[in-house]
Amino acid sequence: MCWRQQGNLYISNTEQVGAGLYHSGLFSNSGEFITAKNFRPSEYQTLAQDFIDNAHPIIRKRIRYLEFLEEHNLLNASIESINAAGKFGAHAEARVLDKALKDIEIMEGLPSGSFPETRLSEFNIFVKYRGGSCPPRCVACWNLSEGVRIIGNE
Ligand SMILES: [Zn+2]
Repeated sequence: MCWRQQGNLYISNTEQVGAGLYHSGLFSNSGEFITAKNFRPSEYQTLAQDFIDNAHPIIRKRIRYLEFLEEHNLLNASIESINAAGKFGAHAEARVLDKALKDIEIMEGLPSGSFPETRLSEFNIFVKYRGGSCPPRCVACWNLSEGVRIIGNE
């Protein structure tokens, strides 16, 4: 089943995929959710790299691990899934999770970067194609979102 609600997630014809994230504590008043889109390949060297360099430690650590696995030919995934990943961490799922982790640390007064992986199940992420369907998660997002509740394509 694919998440129907689109809210403020508008995907134009030149964009492929967007993601939304909901956390009951972060949005108890507004009912809003965090949204982001995939970086485009033309943005991999600049915006995406900058995002990764400044990502929350949970995400940065997982990206480094994925890169290590790929380097040593240990990624347990099809070539299609690896190709779909593009640059690890460049997809919308990583971006919404990163923003949520940083926002919740501010909201709860936690030291920056200290949010524990054991609480990732508090987050709900949905992903949608511009056509409205839920795309399968690539190998990078599959691993980066480990522990998070994914709506559609569980
Ligand atoms: Zn992905």
